[in-house]
Amino acid sequence: MKTIIYNKNVLEKYHSKSQIARILSENWFEKEMYCPNCLHEELIKNPNNTKVTDFVCDYCNNEFQLKAQSKPFYSKVVDGAFYPMINSIQQNATPNFSFMEYSFENWKVQNLFFIPKFFFTPSIIEKRKPLSTNARRSGWIGCNVLLSKIPELGKIKVIENEMHFPEKEVQRNWKRLSFMDKEHAGKRAWLSDILYCIQQLNKKEFTLDEMYNWEDYLSKLHPKNYNIKPKIRQQLQMLRDGGILEFKSRGAYIIKK
Ligand SMILES: [Zn+2]
Repeated sequence: MKTIIYNKNVLEKYHSKSQIARILSENWFEKEMYCPNCLHEELIKNPNNTKVTDFVCDYCNNEFQLKAQSKPFYSKVVDGAFYPMINSIQQNATPNFSFMEYSFENWKVQNLFFIPKFFFTPSIIEKRKPLSTNARRSGWIGCNVLLSKIPELGKIKVIENEMHFPEKEVQRNWKRLSFMDKEHAGKRAWLSDILYCIQQLNKKEFTLDEMYNWEDYLSKLHPKNYNIKPKIRQQLQMLRDGGILEFKSRGAYIIKK
């Protein structure tokens, strides 16, 4: 995989910086990026979708939406309309997202990571304020994707500081939590939120009591659930069955490598 996005023809043909950036990043993605799920070597630009940049793997049918910019991605990313986003999450219909940061200085991809579709849950979508009455689309409500609320296991790194990870490693990380793909949105949200809490503990081993400390936080995210503690235990069991955790002893857990 080459990280260079430079293309002389594109630079000669176009003048606007944003247009050049869009075409170069799309071209690079189409030419160099492989499918992180099945490692099929090419992703095809979806011709039916003109609004957003969409790619598809014609081997496993996974869809990918590309977000590319010349600045690092911080804790939140502006996305489209709020309610359609929530609807597509409820219907397990969101695409996978890829976040690509490139440089105008050396024309290289600096960083690139994927968020698999099964990590898109209502907990990571923030409702924005409706547009003001003066705006052309007055009342329209957009959303932010809260990257900071996605557990690290849900960020599949492909390129970091211009260095790319081995394809097999990318695929292994992708597959590690793909058992979530079969679950409905409510269940996925719980798993993802619990993984986030585990990560915040910042320990290889932790106890059930430490997880119970997140009860308030979780009850705000899941206001209709009045049995947070049993729910926490259930998620930990699912993560054990999924091979993410190991039960050490009663009430003690280890994160598997
Ligand atoms: Zn594929």
